[in-house]
Amino acid sequence: MIEKFKTNAEVIENGDKYLYGNHVRMPLSIERGEGAYVFDKDGNKYLDFIGGIAVNGLGHCHPAIVKCLEERAHTILHCSNYFYNEPAVQTAKLIVENSCFDKVLFANSGAEANEGQIKLARKYAKDHGHPERFVVITMKNSFHGRTLATCTATGQYAVHRYFEPLPSGFRYAEFNNLQSVKDIMDEYVCAILTEPVQGEGGVRPASQEFLQGLRDLCDEKGILLMFDEVQVGSGRTGKLFAHQNYGVEPDTCSMAKALGSGVPIGAVCARGEAAKTLTPGTHGSTFAGGPLACALAATTLDVMINDGVIENSRKMGEYFRKQAHEIIEKNHPEAVNEIRGLGLIDGIQLNKPSGQPVVDLCFKDSNVLINNTNGNVLRFVPPLIVNEEEIDIVIKAVDEAMTKLGW
Ligand SMILES: *Cc1c(COP(=O)(O)O)cnc(C)c1O
Repeated sequence: MIEKFKTNAEVIENGDKYLYGNHVRMPLSIERGEGAYVFDKDGNKYLDFIGGIAVNGLGHCHPAIVKCLEERAHTILHCSNYFYNEPAVQTAKLIVENSCFDKVLFANSGAEANEGQIKLARKYAKDHGHPERFVVITMKNSFHGRTLATCTATGQYAVHRYFEPLPSGFRYAEFNNLQSVKDIMDEYVCAILTEPVQGEGGVRPASQEFLQGLRDLCDEKGILLMFDEVQVGSGRTGKLFAHQNYGVEPDTCSMAKALGSGVPIGAVCARGEAAKTLTPGTHGSTFAGGPLACALAATTLDVMINDGVIENSRKMGEYFRKQAHEIIEKNHPEAVNEIRGLGLIDGIQLNKPSGQPVVDLCFKDSNVLINNTNGNVLRFVPPLIVNEEEIDIVIKAVDEAMTKLGW
């Protein structure tokens, strides 16, 4: 029999005893969710502006997702890629029809989708008469995943540390500095990979000149431009893809986090020649593109695109930043360094070593869940269905926490 724990404290106590200690967890065991709220085992209610780290785009228990899961339980969950399944085709079709891409390759996570992009870029170079090309240029402060290749692609020492020797073939440029990319460009480079908005790196949107400059450089060299939209794709920035805000089209682009509304899924979207590179036998996965994850992805995309969720993300993002300027920056001018974001990925960079004290007070005093990233950036990645009242609650919680801290 599976043991039932009675209280929040009991789950935490057993968690500390049995779960591997590779994550720092808040003292909260989440029992269930509803819209933008989650509840712990003791029945306490929290406003969730972490959203499973930008995964719960439709919030918790969205009726369309509940219905999809119920139907799925009675049809089929998995069948292998020896066969076609309708949800995979529906998901790929929705992505292609709402983007510049021609084909979609599925994966099971963000890291795996990026791993797919890296393999695709190396084969593309070989297919096109450049066997010498294997280097992927990525950006400092980026985040691309935790597998060996994607942690190496990640331009952060903290992520590389302890894992040497790392796979070869990665070089790092400065984000938003085109010259720094040109400085390390040579005949061995097969692709440039960047997030259009750095997420873990502190919510930093790319400049228009940077992304356009990368596009022009890749065209000039005949190499691939690859975007990592694991965090900022799937409607997060007020468009289906973040790069659609810039009008700069990559050759390939990864998706993951919010795509499956909580069930693991990743995708590599590709266009033109890059959509023909990975031929049978070169890449694949047992689970990727299965009916369960894809049925959820198709439903997620359908609701996002056709029920105004992406549009809500754009509008609520503007409202969030307006309120953050008018209340948080105005009341704490010394403590706030910069407020930035695109749609509903927003950050408040502080003139303090860490934002963690604010995160802790929001949790303890206001039952509001936010997180701190890249040292001192408060990050807000709520469900894309949030409304103005919910944003007001979060702004007030942050304002009060900073007042209490004397900031
Ligand atoms: C979260 C994230 C990843 C890694 O995704 P996983 O599903 O955790 O492997 C990669 N890139 C970006 C930009 C991310 O935010």
